[in-house]
Amino acid sequence: MADRIAVVGSNMVDLVTYVNRMPDRGETLEAPDFVLGFGGKGANQAVAAARLGAQVSMVTCVGDDIFGPRTRQNLSDHGIDVSHLRCVEGTPSGVAPIFVAPDGENAILIVKGANAHLSPADIDAAAATLKGCDAILLQLEVPLDTVYHAVAFGARHGVQTILNPAPADPELDLSRLDGLDWFCPNESELALLSGMPTDTDAAVLAAARSLIKRGIRNVIVTLGARGARLVTAEDAVQIAPVRVEAVDTTGAGDAFIGSFARFLSGGATPQQALERAARYAAHSITGRGTQSSYADTETFGVFCR
Ligand code: ADP
Repeated sequence: MADRIAVVGSNMVDLVTYVNRMPDRGETLEAPDFVLGFGGKGANQAVAAARLGAQVSMVTCVGDDIFGPRTRQNLSDHGIDVSHLRCVEGTPSGVAPIFVAPDGENAILIVKGANAHLSPADIDAAAATLKGCDAILLQLEVPLDTVYHAVAFGARHGVQTILNPAPADPELDLSRLDGLDWFCPNESELALLSGMPTDTDAAVLAAARSLIKRGIRNVIVTLGARGARLVTAEDAVQIAPVRVEAVDTTGAGDAFIGSFARFLSGGATPQQALERAARYAAHSITGRGTQSSYADTETFGVFCR
């Protein structure tokens, strides 16, 4: 039986418009190209874990629009169980209109849509599935109460929980994450949540330690091209970056977290799981796109040789 991972989180449809320049207020402008892609931090992490062979279930909400069935299909196409995907009547799906200028600079809007309706009751409805999982993976594109409820559920039922506090939310109450196993911010999220600078390695360590003093057990900080760092009360381990030619770094964090969950629940030690996740995320930035750049087991095996 493959490792079982549940993602309680978001899905979004990326509406990517390539522009020659941004329109001014009140202006209508023709744009040269448009691409529709599947995203959302929850769905991205679910796809990364599934591509690596995990048995993944998603607890998520879509709207009753044309994007809902497409999102369901995309998840199913990746072998992800969608029996806990709920359609919210009278609500749009989560979408991200993204504008990309010729120099690669982008401007992004996030409309949470149905993701804002994922509730503690959705977790209770999926309880039987969640109890059978090796890990529950969480992010912050859904309501905080749902995240707190999932952490408490995991602690109560002995299922480890991994929280990627992204996008950073200053309202996140660390005291309500009692029992959380893994807390995985990037350096800017760590800065916002700790209220401390993270511009040097020593500063990252001090900021991570401050979260540990506030009750967080294991902090994994992703540091872009500088790799990652695991900080616990007793230890601090540096995970070296894997050198690659970066083509498109969008979704690197999601590749890292989704694959870390997969490797950890597959029996790797935390350090091994992090080293493999750094390799998996590095591979993902060698190709364009987000989910489309995530390797399957075979491609990843070739990359690691
Ligand atoms: P996010 O996408 O959330 O900002 P990061 O930029 O920290 O996350 O990237 C997540 C992980 O992806 C890093 O910890 C690192 O392992 C890998 N990574 C990101 N950018 C690079 C890069 N330029 N070269 C090698 N690895 C990278």
